[in-house]
Amino acid sequence: NTSAPRLPSFLKTSIPTGASFKKIKKDLRGLGLHTVCEEARCPNIGDCWGGKEGATEEEGRRAATATIMLMGDTCTRGCRFCSVKTSRTPAPLDPHEPENTAEAISRWGLGYIVLTSVDRDDLADGGAHHFAETIRKIKYKAPQILVEALTGDFAGNLDQVSLVAKSGLDVYAHNVETVEELTPFVRDRRATFRQSLAVLQRAKQEGVRVTKTSIMLGVGENSDQLMDALRELRKVDVDVVTFGQYMRPTKRHMKVDRYVEPSEFDHWKKVAEDMGFLYVASGPLVRSSYKAGEFFIENVLR
Ligand code: SF4
Ligand code: SF4
Repeated sequence: NTSAPRLPSFLKTSIPTGASFKKIKKDLRGLGLHTVCEEARCPNIGDCWGGKEGATEEEGRRAATATIMLMGDTCTRGCRFCSVKTSRTPAPLDPHEPENTAEAISRWGLGYIVLTSVDRDDLADGGAHHFAETIRKIKYKAPQILVEALTGDFAGNLDQVSLVAKSGLDVYAHNVETVEELTPFVRDRRATFRQSLAVLQRAKQEGVRVTKTSIMLGVGENSDQLMDALRELRKVDVDVVTFGQYMRPTKRHMKVDRYVEPSEFDHWKKVAEDMGFLYVASGPLVRSSYKAGEFFIENVLR
């Protein structure tokens, strides 16, 4: 389709080279962990795994962030922007996954781990027990590692949110992905903006220190809709918001409406900060977990 906008130069990235990056990549072999960073060929891997500029290798590793996917590679939902495989009946959970993941993560020794998963509407608890058990085991083996859980909405079952929120995690993240008006066209039909707000609200009510969400720009939202979304998120005390550009994974996924200029990302960062969000990451290549470790370790959780 010739109407698709061309990829602007600020969305092209270079191949990472930092010492910390290479070491982390090498360590990963043999641990049996599957990172979203590598599997989704995330453009930020150099920044996230590279740690801080000018830091020693040890410091670099402690400031590094990686995202691990739990509960398989097949989702029971089909959001229109997402490249994960879909099936009504994904493979059963691996009962050893919590233990094996925790063991591998504790040996890997990164400072900040994001655990995420596919949505498992096929399971009675949506996988909440499995998620919570993995976090508890990581915290038992390596209490110094900061853990962020990036969960689905558990089909609105807030007891499952509570279960994960009380597992010992540091950050509870759930992505609204887009503004309320576009949610039915962007996310799976089982997801709603209100249901996602309820998830974030419950996590905060359970005493989680930091709650976090992400919004993709460039899917057709307008400024008023985005302002409304941010106000609703602040009303339920969401602490952190990130904005990134939507990138179409394949031709079978929804089109990019437009490429948002870096200056507009700066604008939204300022707007959100003025509304009281504790931290805002905003830029064309920013993803939900972008350099989360470096930021949280320095600014929020210490
Ligand atoms: Fe990994 Fe997330 Fe960083 Fe991408 S943004 S490299 S998925 S931690
Ligand atoms: Fe992708 Fe998550 Fe939607 Fe599943 S629920 S299709 S993993 S965005």
